Amino acid sequence: MTGTTLPGTDALRERALAALGAAGVTPQYGEGLTARTPITGEVLFDLHATTASEADEAIAAAAGAFRTWRTTPAPARGDLVRRLGELLRAHRSELADLVTIEAGKIRSEALGEIQEMIDICDFAVGLSRQLYGRTIASERPGHRLAESWHPLGVAGVISAFNFPAAVWSWNTALALVCGDTVVWKPSEATPLISSACSGLLDRAAQDVGAPREVHRLLLAGREVGEQLVGDSRVALISATGSTRMGREVGPRVAARFGRSLLELGGNNASIVTPSADLELALSGIVFAAAGTAGQRCTTLRRLIVHRDIADEVVERLVVAYRKLPIGDPFAEGTLVGPLITAEAAERMRDALNRAEAEGGKVLVGGGRRLAEDAPSAAYAEPAIVRMPEQTAVVRAETFAPILYVLTYRDFDEAIALNNAVPQGLSSSVFTGDQQEAERFLAADGSDCGISNVNIGTSGAEIGGAFGGEKETGGGRESGSDAWRSYMRRATNTVNYSSRLTLAQNVSFL
Ligand code: NAD
Repeated sequence: MTGTTLPGTDALRERALAALGAAGVTPQYGEGLTARTPITGEVLFDLHATTASEADEAIAAAAGAFRTWRTTPAPARGDLVRRLGELLRAHRSELADLVTIEAGKIRSEALGEIQEMIDICDFAVGLSRQLYGRTIASERPGHRLAESWHPLGVAGVISAFNFPAAVWSWNTALALVCGDTVVWKPSEATPLISSACSGLLDRAAQDVGAPREVHRLLLAGREVGEQLVGDSRVALISATGSTRMGREVGPRVAARFGRSLLELGGNNASIVTPSADLELALSGIVFAAAGTAGQRCTTLRRLIVHRDIADEVVERLVVAYRKLPIGDPFAEGTLVGPLITAEAAERMRDALNRAEAEGGKVLVGGGRRLAEDAPSAAYAEPAIVRMPEQTAVVRAETFAPILYVLTYRDFDEAIALNNAVPQGLSSSVFTGDQQEAERFLAADGSDCGISNVNIGTSGAEIGGAFGGEKETGGGRESGSDAWRSYMRRATNTVNYSSRLTLAQNVSFL
């Protein structure tokens, strides 16, 4: 089931250097930040961490570049993103290598992440000619009422380890065509892929003659993130990460009347009804729950199954889980790679212990693999836990592959369970019954930002707006009209008559 031996840290270091070199980037060696790989759990490089004064200069540079970038025609801004998309296409394989080395994603998921970046670049290029405002019927004769959308300012992007490249691109491709400049503080766990992405954007800027300062990278820990959050030159903070982080960031941005876009933790559920196509449901469930080693914000964490089919569903899932190939994410056939750190594995163990204390039964998984080959790495067996009810541990997000199984009697109860958690990111129903499907999507159905039918909770396309409600933060990124978060709206009333008519028929003078 594991089979493969893991690559050594030296080989991974070489592979990382080759990928960075292809992107035209040399690591800035120094102190303050370590690049590690979860594949062995060992250190790859010691890097220079951006200092507070360097961060200050970077924000000043981005604020300076905004003054010219905001009046560069939007289609010309789109040209920069078009060039970035070309470079991402050309370096797809090396960039995916870096995602695997730093985040531990299996090859096809790492390639999928780069594909997402390419897709959002295509989307943003089209958008650069479609930043539409509305013309509104004026109540006054000889008046035109309209809205215009203008660039907002510097967008500060803070990103999490688990989508180390795609989240940046969702924000950056849109922000750049919207006329904003970007300062990026990636996760401290993923400095290499961030450097490669930033390097390619620098090259794209040079190729199309855009100012290099439209994008600045801050490779540092949380303190520099806090600095970005507190800086009033930064008009928008788009922050992706844990709800804990959002609780700190949101109020600080609000206190200075900045704008924030928060993409925080999820605790996603799928409902399986008696009319579901079980074959389809089972493959959707296994990918959503065990894929990416349970480290997606949209990972399936709660399965709400009708009690008449629960035993069959659980039995079949346990069989599938026992066969999951766990190990080297570069190896062909591996489906589950490592957790990001040993601490993440500890949190998984704690959650399983708590689940048992709260009446749960671990049906499969929870063990550690490859401990001898890589003592510093954290390869965990995805777990399924049958729970008597939705207890405290089930209502919290543990960022690891644990699937809690709950049962329901009627569909209202299933929807109530789906909604009875603090988070509101993704949800789905597996059903052959149209009434149930529509009910799930209705106003009194799932309360999540993403609600799916006959598909799992993870793996969104870039065309739709991405984000969730409640403790997930309320932000929307990526497709649809998410671009509006990166612009400011001005309402314009133009009087082209020779009389001054007041609104609401007010008379004065
Ligand atoms: P994290 O919250 O530990 O860190 C995320 C980022 O925030 C990092 O860059 C970190 O340095 C920075 N940060 C942390 N505290 C900060 C502060 N007080 N001020 C400024 N910056 C701060 O999250 P993580 O472990 O990297 O990622 C996993 C979490 O992210 C999970 O909860 C997952 O659900 C969530 N996530 C959400 C989405 C989404 O779109 N909703 C997407 C990916 C990940």
